[in-house]
Amino acid sequence: MNKNIAMAGAGLSCAVIARGLAEKGHKVTIYEKRDHIAGNCHTERDKNTDVMVHVYGPHIFHTDDSEVWDYVNRFMDFKPYVNRVKATTGGRVFSLPINLHTINQFFNKTLSPSEAEEFIAQQADTSIVDPKSFEEQGMRLLGTELYKAFFHGYTLKQWGVNPKELPASILKRLPVRFNYNDNYFFHQYQGMPSEGYTEMVENILSHPDIQVKLNSEFSSSMVERFDHVFYSGPVDGYYDYDLGHLPYRTLDFEKSEESGDFQGCAVMNYCDESVPFTRITEHKHFSPWETHSKSICYKEYSRNCEPGDIPYYPITVVGGNDLLEQYLARTRNEKNITFVGRLGTYKYMDMDVTIRSALDVLEKWN
Ligand SMILES: Cc1cc2nc3c(=O)[nH]c(=O)nc-3n(C[C@H](O)[C@H](O)[C@H](O)COP(=O)(O)OP(=O)(O)OC[C@H]3O[C@@H](n4cnc5c(N)ncnc54)[C@H](O)[C@@H]3O)c2cc1C
Repeated sequence: MNKNIAMAGAGLSCAVIARGLAEKGHKVTIYEKRDHIAGNCHTERDKNTDVMVHVYGPHIFHTDDSEVWDYVNRFMDFKPYVNRVKATTGGRVFSLPINLHTINQFFNKTLSPSEAEEFIAQQADTSIVDPKSFEEQGMRLLGTELYKAFFHGYTLKQWGVNPKELPASILKRLPVRFNYNDNYFFHQYQGMPSEGYTEMVENILSHPDIQVKLNSEFSSSMVERFDHVFYSGPVDGYYDYDLGHLPYRTLDFEKSEESGDFQGCAVMNYCDESVPFTRITEHKHFSPWETHSKSICYKEYSRNCEPGDIPYYPITVVGGNDLLEQYLARTRNEKNITFVGRLGTYKYMDMDVTIRSALDVLEKWN
């Protein structure tokens, strides 16, 4: 029997689920509290410069999941794009992730791959036998110089916590490549939607049985009007934060219009603790197939999320998160509502993971 379904949020999670349900004959109404679709992947052209801007921060699509890659390509033409990140530290510019070029440049050497591997092993602080913290792990794997130059200040700014207090498990493997590969991601598929993510989400939502209501907040009191609800808003928000707020980091973007080419690449990280922002994004470099005489840049600042701010990154708390467990226990007792997406499940998920889990939710739901 065809059902009357509501969704909270017009981001990728609900868009994918809505499309699947509409194709099965169900009627879907999506409530979105913002004045646009696509959630945090939202892109729009800047009015003055015509540059496609990633409004909530830089988004690069990358995946090893061929089904997800086929899915996004069904709704938008993807242009080849390789994410190559640069980093400024100590007044010099390097390539990230740390690779052979970074090592040779940083230590002013001309090492081969095997020589570099040996050299980094010598740099490692072997006096740390059983690293407990992120800082100890960084110094154990990389040595003090590389760790301090690329990880210490950046991590401190990004998470607002001294790396001494973060678990070693965050830095599992040696974050170094002993070749000149500066592709930030390892995934098989990588690209950028030619007309931005919002147009892609618009195409996903373009179905006669999907209705989108913008500027409309969904609340728990509306659930009983529908056969089922998919909720991609914050799980603590659904319960009016009655047990307290889950911890998030939020971002502030300082936007500027520049002429010509401001920094020569899309993303430049600033690793020094003395620089208050974490990175600068120059958006036109995400669309290298376009030409623009002007440019739009975002300086990105990270801080703890306060009530009213946009929640960006869930904070993983050492030793587990009791508050999250309490909220999740309540969701398991709900009958007609499924909590989805990065806010509904309180998990950081890249776009490909978001789409994969939405497709899985769809598969299981009858
Ligand atoms: C800074 C940053 C950079 C990122 N970069 C990348 C990247 O490079 N590559 C990558 O793959 N992924 C990246 N991601 C992850 C990507 O943003 C997520 O995978 C994706 O946004 C998740 O989609 P979602 O639908 O679950 O959530 P969201 O995009 O957050 O959508 C949820 C929507 O629900 C709405 N909403 C919330 N509560 C309510 C309510 N009560 N009623 C109505 N509407 C409501 C919100 O307004 C929002 O539009 C990045 C994330 C961040 C924060």
